[in-house]
Amino acid sequence: MRISPLLPGGCLGIIGAGQLGRMLAQAATSMGYRVAVLSPDPDEPAAQIAHEVVIGSYDDPVALGSLAECSDRLTLEFENIPAEPLYELSGRIEISPSPCVLAVAQDRLLEKSTMTALGLPIAGYSEIRAPGDGQAAADRWGFPLVVKTARSGYDGKGQRIVHSMADLEEAIKLLRPLPLIAEQFIDFRGEASILVARSARGQVVTYPLIANTHRHHILDLSVCPANEPLHVEEQATAIARTVAEGLQLVGLLCVELFIGRDDRLLINELAPRPHNSGHLTIEAFSPSQFTQVVRAVCGLPLATPVQLRPAAMVNLLGEEWGHGKPDWNAALALPGVSLHLYGKREPKPGRKMGHLTALAENSAKAAELAVSARDALRGSRR
Ligand code: AMP
Repeated sequence: MRISPLLPGGCLGIIGAGQLGRMLAQAATSMGYRVAVLSPDPDEPAAQIAHEVVIGSYDDPVALGSLAECSDRLTLEFENIPAEPLYELSGRIEISPSPCVLAVAQDRLLEKSTMTALGLPIAGYSEIRAPGDGQAAADRWGFPLVVKTARSGYDGKGQRIVHSMADLEEAIKLLRPLPLIAEQFIDFRGEASILVARSARGQVVTYPLIANTHRHHILDLSVCPANEPLHVEEQATAIARTVAEGLQLVGLLCVELFIGRDDRLLINELAPRPHNSGHLTIEAFSPSQFTQVVRAVCGLPLATPVQLRPAAMVNLLGEEWGHGKPDWNAALALPGVSLHLYGKREPKPGRKMGHLTALAENSAKAAELAVSARDALRGSRR
């Protein structure tokens, strides 16, 4: 498919207005685009900086229509948007990634069957469509199992690790709505992600592997280079290209991966948008993941990513505000550290308020610096 490019000066509409939308809007405005967002609230992170804000919910066809009215092209910043109204809208305005890609990424069952059809490696799983399906899953895979809702799960929400039949039955009762998936628990040696962008002309570019550490199922630390052997990097790149080409992606997508003890990669999930683990690309790469999204969805040439410096990123969750105002001076006094805050007024536990990126001569030093900068925020408060 040939889409005519949307050149700077045009208006990029973003469905969603959280921190990913904000950083995407920053990248788009720095290239001379206007930005419109669909936001449930005028004070959301991206709504604070957009040229136009349409207030409404993501599944409201009228609000989506108003966004399309004031935009020349649409993209999205999270995948849990109902695909149905977007199919309707795609007759009127170009939407990238397409509602079909969105439909795959928002349904774990469709995502897994699509990955399997593309010959890509995933963890073994069984569908749970009725309470009685638990036994077959346990017989097939044994325990532990990870039970997940098929839709609307993120940051570990809507999932439970179960160790026995009784746990499994309980999880099936608690995790609603059905269907669920019961997935093999993977005894991985690490987690990683890879960003891939594809243009409507079929140009594909990938970023290097990013190593990720989670705390309480929420991303805590990302580091690039991941310092994995070349054959692991190559597997990741091949997987990412196959996903982007198989889905006919237009835009940028993150493939979240488990690294097995045998070095084999398994796909955990797909996110067809900028990703938290890619925030370090703002300082560490040319171009950042956000600029690459703008290039891809506006039909401009993609740029082969070049890493400028080894980097690490730590998330700043609401907990950092738990003992008073963070000591920004102390963190920013450290050379190589950058601060990003998303403009969220109310710090709540688990809420992503911002992040710190640290650049250094190697990944280990960057990770150490990022963690020290976050520790410095806490100052003498605890
Ligand atoms: P998800 O919401 O599927 O991205 O899962 C969040 C986190 O839970 C992952 O980053 C892993 O740390 C962990 N997790 C998810 N699925 C599995 C699995 N099958 N085996 C082991 N850990 C898992």
